[in-house]
Amino acid sequence: MEIMKLKPAFKDYLWGGTKLKQLYNKECSYDILAETWEVSTHKDGPSIIATGEYAGSTLPAYIEKVGKDVLGTKGKTFESFPMLVKFIDAKGSLSIQVHPDNEYAKRVEHEYGKTEMWYVLQADEGACLYFGTNREVSKEEFKAKIEDNTLLDVLKKVPVKKGDVFFIEAGTIHAIGAGIVICEIQQNSNSTYRVYDFGRVGADGKPRELHIEKALDVSNLKPLESDFKPCGKTEQHEGYDVTMLGTCEYFTTYLYHAEAGCKLHVDEESFAALIVLEGEGTIQKDLSFAKGDSFFIPAGYGDVEIKGNCQFVLARV
Ligand SMILES: [Zn+2]
Repeated sequence: MEIMKLKPAFKDYLWGGTKLKQLYNKECSYDILAETWEVSTHKDGPSIIATGEYAGSTLPAYIEKVGKDVLGTKGKTFESFPMLVKFIDAKGSLSIQVHPDNEYAKRVEHEYGKTEMWYVLQADEGACLYFGTNREVSKEEFKAKIEDNTLLDVLKKVPVKKGDVFFIEAGTIHAIGAGIVICEIQQNSNSTYRVYDFGRVGADGKPRELHIEKALDVSNLKPLESDFKPCGKTEQHEGYDVTMLGTCEYFTTYLYHAEAGCKLHVDEESFAALIVLEGEGTIQKDLSFAKGDSFFIPAGYGDVEIKGNCQFVLARV
C-alpha cells in the first residue's frame, strides 16, 4: 500500500485566471486556468497518478484495478467515488447557478447531485459571492426575474475574505464572484444548471446555454443562514492544530496547520485526500510535497508522518 501524488485535470473555462499557475505551481499550457481537478475520478476530468507503482494510470483506473477496499469500509459503500476536490481561480464571476440533489440528479442526469464546500484561499478587496436568496421568492417570480435580467436583486450578496467557509447544499442558488481563489470539496458530480451569465458570450461568441426549467425544479427559494465559518472548533496539538471545516454524508474536511510537521492516522473506514495549501516538506520518508500538490492515501494505511511547515486540507468520508 502506498501514498500517491496526483496530477490534476485542467479546465480553461472563460472566467478563469492565471493564479493557479503562478501561486500553486500548476504546469499547464493553457493561457487561462479556471479549475484544476485535484482528486477526481469523474469522466470529465480524472486525476492521474504521478508516483509509484501505478504512475501514469488515472485514479479511477487504479481503483478499478486494486479494488474498492482502498476506499475503506465506509468509502466503498457509495456506488461511485464520493467526492471531487478542485482548486478554482475566479478572475471573473462564475455564472449564477444551482446544482440538483441526489434524487433529481440520479433520475435526470444519471449521476450524483452536488453539495459543495468552499474554503477561501485568497480574495481581492471587495470580492463577493452569491449565496441563496435574500428573501423568500416564488417560482413564478424567480422565473420572471431570470427572464428580465433582474435576478441579482433577490440574491444574497456576501463579502468574502481568506479563510471563509461556504457550505453550498444542493438546491442553493450561488455564484463565486470575481477575484476569489478557493479549494472546493464537492460531491462527485458535474451537474450544473446555469440561470444567469451576466450577458457574457462563450468562446464561440454565443451566449452559454441556460437551464431554467431544471433550475426551477431544484432551487431552494427560501433564504439560508450561515456565518461562513468552519463548522468545528480548532483543536490544538503539539506543534500543529486541526479544524473541521465542514461535513456531510459524502465528505468531511479538516484544515491542518503544522509548524514543523504532524502525524496523521488513516483508518480502515476511509481513504484520505490531502491537498497542500501552503509550505513544503515530505510525507513519510521520501515523498516530497509543495504548495498546490495533492495526494491519495488508501484506507487502512495507518500512521503517516508529515514533515515541514505547511497547511493542508484533508478530506475523507
Ligand atoms: Zn457550484
